[in-house]
Amino acid sequence: MTKRFAQIIIDISHEKVDRTFDYRIPPQLEDRISVGVLVKIPFGKGNSLRKGYVVGITDHADYDADKIKEIAGIVEGSVSAESQLIMLAWWLKEQYGSTMNQALKTVLPVKQKVKPKEKKVLRLLIPEEQLEAVTAEAEKKSYKARVRLFKALKENPLIPYEVASGQMNLSAATLKPVIEKGYVALESEEIFRNPVKDAGSRVKAVDLNGEQQAVADAFCEDYEAGKRETYLIHGITGSGKTEVYMEMISRVISEGKQVIVLIPEIALTYQTVMRFYGRFGNRVSIINSRLSAGERYDQFERARGGDIDIMIGPRSALFTPFSRLGLIIIDEEHEGAYKSEVVPRYHAREVAVKRAQMQNASVVLGSATPSLEAYTKALRGEYRLFSLHTRAKADSRLADVAVVDLREELKAGNKSIFSRRLQQMIGDRLEKKEQIMMFINRRGYANFVSCRSCGEAIKCPHCDVTLTLHKDNRLVCHYCGYSIPMPDKCPSCGSPYIANFGVGTQKIEMMAKKMFPQARVLRMDLDTTSKKGGHEEILSAFAEGDADILIGTQMIVKGHDFPDVTLVGVLAADLSLYTPDYRAAERTFQLLTQAAGRAGRDARHGDVIIQTYNPEHYSIVTAAGQDYETFYHQEMAYRRLMKYPPVNVLFTVQMASKSEAVLVEAADRLAAHITPQADEEKVQMIGPVDASVYKINDIYRKILYLKQENYDILIKIRDNIDCFQKENQELFKGVVVQYDLS
Ligand code: ADP
Ligand code: ZN
Ligand code: ZN
Repeated sequence: MTKRFAQIIIDISHEKVDRTFDYRIPPQLEDRISVGVLVKIPFGKGNSLRKGYVVGITDHADYDADKIKEIAGIVEGSVSAESQLIMLAWWLKEQYGSTMNQALKTVLPVKQKVKPKEKKVLRLLIPEEQLEAVTAEAEKKSYKARVRLFKALKENPLIPYEVASGQMNLSAATLKPVIEKGYVALESEEIFRNPVKDAGSRVKAVDLNGEQQAVADAFCEDYEAGKRETYLIHGITGSGKTEVYMEMISRVISEGKQVIVLIPEIALTYQTVMRFYGRFGNRVSIINSRLSAGERYDQFERARGGDIDIMIGPRSALFTPFSRLGLIIIDEEHEGAYKSEVVPRYHAREVAVKRAQMQNASVVLGSATPSLEAYTKALRGEYRLFSLHTRAKADSRLADVAVVDLREELKAGNKSIFSRRLQQMIGDRLEKKEQIMMFINRRGYANFVSCRSCGEAIKCPHCDVTLTLHKDNRLVCHYCGYSIPMPDKCPSCGSPYIANFGVGTQKIEMMAKKMFPQARVLRMDLDTTSKKGGHEEILSAFAEGDADILIGTQMIVKGHDFPDVTLVGVLAADLSLYTPDYRAAERTFQLLTQAAGRAGRDARHGDVIIQTYNPEHYSIVTAAGQDYETFYHQEMAYRRLMKYPPVNVLFTVQMASKSEAVLVEAADRLAAHITPQADEEKVQMIGPVDASVYKINDIYRKILYLKQENYDILIKIRDNIDCFQKENQELFKGVVVQYDLS
């Protein structure tokens, strides 16, 4: 009698995923049962046959082995999307360290009973002259939302309802009167389907330039030859990556395959989604975080049913149940949002590559500032590298970038947040009626201390990250625990002008209004966008010329084309440089490069001013020169020196508990337990140290860092930690342990 058992989920729905049932694997099926396989099993009192997916295999059953029923058979047929996603969940669990339940909940959408909504579309009913007339009238009356709708309809006479209410933020109250007046009609998808058939004449693809065409051709050649690879397109901002993606998509769907396109939520704007609808019509669907669980489920059902070929969305769109997947595209591949913040802490890039491998699909990554991870793999030949060096629009060129040294400003007696050069340029643009974006990275607003005379931020002597100012007036390193009292002089130059560096968007807005009373100023940050649709409202108001200056956090630098913006000011580039994170320089380079890419998107000349206390820092120098290669090599040298990823794998063990005493005890004993193994395997271990925010909601958090080149060695240590926890359940009572491998 075989000793193996399968864990089976009967129904893939949110509630039941929590519960698996054990079944014995009969000897004749031994070779064919693996995770993801759909089986028939006797279930309940009557032993009626039900279908279920195998989600795990063990050699010990949780209870009396004799009473366990046997699997009745395998459901024959092609491998379904679910099976594949369940196999992927298994991989997630193994790779990132989570329970199978957590992994299943990540890959399978929550099933909810909702009224299935018909797909609707807004269709323009009136001729062009009349549209111009009603637009003018709405403008006169300042019906902003209505103007937005009319302008969009001028370009696209058909707009999917989900885009109108989503990306365009149009309320039912806006739509009702224009429908009643007969300007537009709300129609069902069936009607959408027909006119889109001749979409070719409505929105024709642009003619790719030579560089773009070469990339698309190389991909298509591979695809036709049956080669499935991972490609990285390194293309400067505005080089036309999206057009290249669309060409690739065309090719792949023409063979009856399906495509997933990941775009960070923040860049998933009206402009972007309409480009895809314009080209592919109703074969496209989008998901975004505004959708309820039920709506998301609906979208996934449409995908499963084969109603669509292309799914566009943020990270979670990766798990669209396509059974004929041919291609996964990840735009802005370097974005932090592609890493999951909850267990399993997966990275979309790695999961995409895995899923593509399982379903014989290709992966295309694109970025103007590739992550060090991706670029390293490309240089090693693991990914195939393509480059786009020029702006796609014939008359568009990169902006001129100037770096302003803020220490010089202080010396010259200018204590304002706006340098003299920036002030002068703002004045010039206001006069010319051109638009200005001012950008501050408030995420780096953390409590670090820097010197206004020499520009140095106070750093940990051991870790090369900035120290964080705590309430008790001590500076603490969040990586190693090193701590000193807050000094009264700069440790580098002795200047007394050292302070907690803090300027927020609100303060900047105030100062801008004071200095330029004639300017109309808009602000975009977490405060002004927290209400539903706030984000779109501000962006479209700015795009429509309702303001001269837009001030914002990194939200404003992504994915938007504002042709009238000819000046971008980065107020304090250093803010993202001094975060307690080894990726600080990489993030700074990315943000500055993307911000610079916002200026001069059309024929008019664009200028970028980067204000900084560190004009010599390589991330700032190379971003100003739009020189990715040099940045990459300098940053890699630093990562090598510090043994940070992607040179080494960083394994983070986060422990959290309501009781500080329990946490300290558990963390210390766990560290002591794995020390001998870490020593023997040459794993560098740091900690346990306090998390950068030690206490959140009365929960204390400690972190253990482990670094090694070899991923498998770290996995062995992880398994050891798992065992240790199981053997010491008393010790870990009330302690949550989470893993992160990157
Ligand atoms: P990226 O994604 O690389 O930033 P986009 O694909 O958004 O670039 O292209 C930038 C701009 O250039 C868009 O307005 C796009 O319509 C335009 N564009 C792209 N390719 C071409 C082309 N071959 N000819 C003319 N315009 C193009
Ligand atoms: Zn100093
Ligand atoms: Zn330190």
